[in-house]
Amino acid sequence: MRAAILHGIRNLNLGNVQSPEYSADEVLIKVHATGICGTDIHIYRGEWKTNTPIILGHEFSGVIVEVGSSVKDILKVGDPVVVEPNILCGACHFCRMSERNYFCENLKAVGVTINGAFAEYVNVKAENVYKLPKRVGLDEAALIEPLACCVRGIDQAGIRAGDTVAIIGAGPIGLLLLQLAKHSGALVVIQTDIEETRLKLAKDLGADYTVCVAKEDPVEAIKSLTDGYGVDVAIEAVGSINAITQAMKVTRKGGRLNIFGVAPQEGVWNVKPFDLYDKELTVTTSYRSPFTFQRAVKIASSGTVKLKPLISHIYKLEEIQRAFEVAEKKLEGAIKVLVKP
Ligand SMILES: [Zn+2]
Ligand SMILES: [Zn+2]
Repeated sequence: MRAAILHGIRNLNLGNVQSPEYSADEVLIKVHATGICGTDIHIYRGEWKTNTPIILGHEFSGVIVEVGSSVKDILKVGDPVVVEPNILCGACHFCRMSERNYFCENLKAVGVTINGAFAEYVNVKAENVYKLPKRVGLDEAALIEPLACCVRGIDQAGIRAGDTVAIIGAGPIGLLLLQLAKHSGALVVIQTDIEETRLKLAKDLGADYTVCVAKEDPVEAIKSLTDGYGVDVAIEAVGSINAITQAMKVTRKGGRLNIFGVAPQEGVWNVKPFDLYDKELTVTTSYRSPFTFQRAVKIASSGTVKLKPLISHIYKLEEIQRAFEVAEKKLEGAIKVLVKP
């Protein structure tokens, strides 16, 4: 089959490889579309380590073409599906604690530590596969993986009916969090970004106010929109230290701060503990998508969260290098870039 193979840092090439084998508890999926995620870019740049050669791609949709012998009653050939990429061992300390987290000591992830979906076919354990209702298109279904991560983020942020929420960043994640926040009871959502085109989309998707950080100080702007108090909940969706600091500054006394974005591994957040004390801030983070996929599929099929407007570019697998360049440099107003084999 054709696949995009990462051989090392920035060394990504189309090649022909053996189609994957599948075991009794797995299915073989013909990939329909795969999104390029910030994680893919980090690995591509060598900022996050993984073993190479590897086929990346963990945000994808597809159709089942083969079913392993022990899972024939659960899934069928022809089923349209999405895949939770994180594979738990079920036997380690954390798995046995049965907490709703993914701290598995032997965690594997499709398209991160084992071969993924920038390819024609991928094999996946049946327990990681979620059937799609007919009304979800396979293009937008490629965004269900990031949506599932955002469902976790919203759970962690603890939004209450009537809250005013600030979302720092209006990339794919920020725009999903915006829509989920609105449907979780947020009365007012203020969204910030540096790109006007992203803020326009945020408005279309339900943001009440937008703040362009290229033009005004987001902390001052959000303070003035909230009578000087700050927001009940701030969610950082950029993955930068600067954005975390902004999010903390705009959170009101007694408010909640969720650091959703993945900061650089060596980044250090310079924060005065007194400032956390003085506001009695509740600070949470959000790790992967622990058992939030089922809800994400339901939300996507209900249409309450719009996924299609986030797809800015679709490339063929043959154009993988251009697709990565557009996603990495955010060219041509890129938001979510999909690749189709
Ligand atoms: Zn991702
Ligand atoms: Zn485990």
